[in-house]
Amino acid sequence: MKFCSECGNTIDQRPDKEGRERYSCASCGFIHYRNPRVIVGCAVSSRERVLMCRRSHEPALGEWMIPSGYLECGETLEEGAARETFEETGILIDPLDLELCSILNITEIEQVAILFRIGFTNEPAVRPGPECFETAFMSEQEIASEQLAWRRCMGNGPQQYFKELRSGQFTIRLMNLSSNARLGIKSREYLIASIT
Ligand SMILES: [Zn+2]
Repeated sequence: MKFCSECGNTIDQRPDKEGRERYSCASCGFIHYRNPRVIVGCAVSSRERVLMCRRSHEPALGEWMIPSGYLECGETLEEGAARETFEETGILIDPLDLELCSILNITEIEQVAILFRIGFTNEPAVRPGPECFETAFMSEQEIASEQLAWRRCMGNGPQQYFKELRSGQFTIRLMNLSSNARLGIKSREYLIASIT
């Protein structure tokens, strides 16, 4: 960030009252906050297979990932996840049908990811969007043999997901993802109880 969006003057980094480095404008005083971006994604399953996309762009070009992308302004998390799923795979999802699956802290890359899940009895027809080479429903074994994007940051996430898919007993997971093996991957699961 080089120029102030309010007045056009150059900006520089200086500590605020709490000592945090902030980009601020020496001319008009505007502080340009940088905050983590929100990623939304959707694990679409059918008969113990999950819908995956092979990325046609960097980062992780050519690697597989569930449909996901940046949340847009004005969208709810569920609307963003449904939109990304449609754009990347052609599957239409009602945002109201999505269940919360995981919340991921990815501080290293200044992102928070919120993942949802939805199950279909029969596999809907798919078509890859412009950001994918291909899209397909894949089994746990198929996924294990393919190159998954950011696999080493996911810990036992994929295994846990398929275990829950088989049992039908779902949790909501809160995870801290890191590529730093020393920090490890911290995760806790919350059981879902239905309120009648
Ligand atoms: Zn300014």
